[in-house]
Parts: sequence; C-alpha cells; structure tokens
Amino acid sequence: MRGSAIAVAVGIPLALAAAAGFLAGMASAGGDVEPAAASASPTSAAPVAASSEPPAASATPSTTVDPYVEAMSGGSETLEEGQSGRSETNVANSDLEILNWVETDDPVFFITIDDGIVRSPEALALIQEQQIPVTAFLTEYAVREHTEYFNEVTAYGGSVQNHTMVHGALNDPETDVEWEICETQDRFEGQFGYRPWMLRPPYGAGPDDPDVLKYAEECGINRIVLWNVVVGNDNKVEYWDPPIRAGDIVLLHWEDNLAEGLETILDLGREQGLTPAPLEEYI
Ligand SMILES: [Zn+2]
Repeated sequence: MRGSAIAVAVGIPLALAAAAGFLAGMASAGGDVEPAAASASPTSAAPVAASSEPPAASATPSTTVDPYVEAMSGGSETLEEGQSGRSETNVANSDLEILNWVETDDPVFFITIDDGIVRSPEALALIQEQQIPVTAFLTEYAVREHTEYFNEVTAYGGSVQNHTMVHGALNDPETDVEWEICETQDRFEGQFGYRPWMLRPPYGAGPDDPDVLKYAEECGINRIVLWNVVVGNDNKVEYWDPPIRAGDIVLLHWEDNLAEGLETILDLGREQGLTPAPLEEYI
C-alpha cells in the first residue's frame, strides 16, 4: 500500500520552476492563498519579525521516548493506535526531497492544514467524527499553548510538522533561516514528544534555497512538502490540474470555517472515488 513519493529531487531546476510557477499562479488567483513572494504578508495574524529576539521557550525538554527511536529499536508496536504514520518515515527515507504531490495508484489524497492561529471546534469535531488523517504544518508561536488541540486533530494517522517559528519567508535575506527551522524542531520535540521530519516553508518560499536545504538536513527534516491543491478561506478550490487526483496534496488553513473547507474537499474527493490518507504513510 505504500506509495512512492514523486520527489522533486533537489537540484532539478525544471521541476522546481514548475512548482514556483504554480505557487505564483496560486498567489495571484486566490488572495487568501499563501503567496510565493517573500515580501507578501502572511495569511493571518502578523508574525513577529524574524530578526527579533526569539520569545522565551515555553516548552520543556521532552521526557517521552521519541517514536523514531522506538521504531529503530524495534519498539514501534508501542506506538499509540492511529499514529503509526509517525513511526517509520525518517528511518525509511533519509534523503532530503522536495515534493508537491505523491505518485501513487491508491485512490487517496492528502490533507495538510497550516499555521494554527485559529483552532476551530467544529473542525476538530469533524476530524474526530470521520477520523480524518491530518498533517498539521504549525507555526510555533501560534500553537505553543495548544498542545492538546493539535494532538487531537492529528490522532488519525497524521502528525504535527514544521511551519517555522514566526512564519518568516525563508528566501528573505532578513530571515534567520536556522532559527526558523531548527528552533521549531527543538520546540516541537519538547511540546509534542516527537521531532518533525517535514517542513513547509511559509508562502512556499525558498524550498530549494541553499540555507533552507542546509538547515533542514542539519535539524532532521527529510521532506519539504509543498502542495498542488488549495482550499482557500472562502472555500474556493484551486487546482494545479483539476479535478482532484490520486496523490494530490491539499492545503487548507486552521481557520474558523475550516470544517466547511474540509467538507468541500472531502466531497470533491468522493466524487472522484478518493479518500484522505495519512501523508506520513506515503512519503
Ligand atoms: Zn503559513
């Protein structure tokens, strides 16, 4: 059942150019979509400037066993029910790859939800009711007091992953790329009990910048995950190649009307015979 990632191998300019063009198109097509331009504003609350001093750490070092360590030592059977997707990825695929969709023959697509400033109870209820696998790319400053919510919404095969400390554009020379990536890794390991292995650069900006690749590798990231379908905050759906297809990676945001956006994309998937699957099990 495991599909192989259609990785946009690092250093293949054509594929990356296609991704960049797509992202730029998305930015112009939908005002709420994260724009690719480094100078653009984030989708919601203004982040602290990347050059400012990082806020004091609120997370304490984790005392729980890292699930990857467990997996590597044969202890994966102790993983919690529904969280198997967290167990093997780092181990099986150690090379850093950039991807915006997944090559698979399985009738599945992938739901990724970004930022984390708003935590909708209706979205949580829907995710729990339908046991939807969700990969949550979270911005650290927005979620540090909300561990329980994000553990609950990622309890169905999903996971919490890295969307930086304060949502800095990683291709902006003013951004402290090391801090944005690596501090998030350390904080999330403390907060959620496992170290992220996926990074989604804010605005999709700079996924192949040398510093991004360098600090991603140094700090334990092996997948830089973009997207090819967007459900905007107005629930308008933007496709790279409509309709939704097997292996598509859908981007939504943690917003008040997220439940409606999820219903929208679930319905569109159903029309194509597709159901959501954990991205964690396919890349
Ligand atoms: Zn974002």
